[in-house]
Amino acid sequence: MNIHEYQAKEILRKYGVAVPKGNVAFSPDEAVKVAKELNANVTVVKAQIHAGGRGKAGGVKIAKTLEEVRSYAKELLGKILVTHQTGPEGKEIKRLYIEQGSDIQKEYYLSLVVDRATSRVTLMGSEEGGMDIEEVAEATPEKIFKEVVDPVVGLTAFQARRMAFNMNIPAKLVGSATKLMLRLYDAFIDTDASTVEVNPLAVTGDGEVIALDAKFNFDANALYRHKNILELRDFNEEDPKEIEASKHDLSYISLDGSIGCMVNGAGLAMATMDTISYYGGSPANFLDVGGGATAEKVTEAFKIILSDENVKGIFVNIFGGIMKCDIIADGVITAAKEVGLEVPLVVRLEGTNVDIGKKMLNESGLNIVAADSMADGAQKIVKLVG
Ligand code: ADP
Ligand code: MG
Repeated sequence: MNIHEYQAKEILRKYGVAVPKGNVAFSPDEAVKVAKELNANVTVVKAQIHAGGRGKAGGVKIAKTLEEVRSYAKELLGKILVTHQTGPEGKEIKRLYIEQGSDIQKEYYLSLVVDRATSRVTLMGSEEGGMDIEEVAEATPEKIFKEVVDPVVGLTAFQARRMAFNMNIPAKLVGSATKLMLRLYDAFIDTDASTVEVNPLAVTGDGEVIALDAKFNFDANALYRHKNILELRDFNEEDPKEIEASKHDLSYISLDGSIGCMVNGAGLAMATMDTISYYGGSPANFLDVGGGATAEKVTEAFKIILSDENVKGIFVNIFGGIMKCDIIADGVITAAKEVGLEVPLVVRLEGTNVDIGKKMLNESGLNIVAADSMADGAQKIVKLVG
């Protein structure tokens, strides 16, 4: 789960990581009110969307007067911001963060991630911070330094200091940078984050080391023990289909293809998507209905797929092990009757109660194309979708 920059900075503040003063605003009036309270020479008006690259896309504005704050707030609120992370459809700006402007001397990059290769938390840092870290990683990866954290010991002061030196933090600020990294690590561990990114970490004219941007990503499997973080969830930033799916405990990710997939088991779901792609189609979603799904759950899943207007055909590919084929058939029939099925449907069932399931589908009056194998089904649906 992602949160907004202003929420991330609130967490960092709690952990003693230096961040500029600021507050959220939902209207130009609120923006001006916050700016007045900040009473700074320079105020930054920042679009709050769950995506980076805002600076380059015009989502971060520097205001010198309250009037400028108002006009930038007016300009940004309600605007669709397209950054290299939003996709071409962009994201609507509904909140702003009004923040004290910092006198930046240099921008650095700092992050903590769970590295799957080492199965450890890794601290990453670079003196090439700011807006182009992706290019740095591509062109000059040697400029990004890493410290692998021992899970028992945690991030040590020694490692943090070595990172600060590697990043070429000015010598007299190495102490503050080290402290900041250690506190950042505490925030990361305590919140069960999967990523914390501070880009840029800035050294200012007043000799401060301060987080100018902050991004958190949390491990969804740990959210049950972080009620306060769960409350920060912004449904506006999420795909309504994915929100609906999460209510029914379905693993659903919406994609931009045209073939809706209903599959059980994450492995089979991945294989089904690959097979569809192999035969020239493109999946509209990843969906794992799970092992013990009920007919109601399958019905909901099918409805979610049908609610996607990009879906031009559906491929149901089920291996009935724990999940029985007749339950799937029941769910498909109920949903298709409730919502109406206007796109082609290819079904491949295999496993427990397959004969009952097939019989139910055959007698349902729905226009269903049966498939004998995953490859057969994928080819059929790709052809039908055209
Ligand atoms: P994004 O990563 O989405 O582009 P950032 O928060 O990193 O957004 O802001 C982009 C750039 O704007 C930063 O690299 C920095 O140069 C500038 N900036 C952001 N916040 C401030 C601030 N409080 N004071 C001065 N400059 C800022
Ligand atoms: Mg940034």
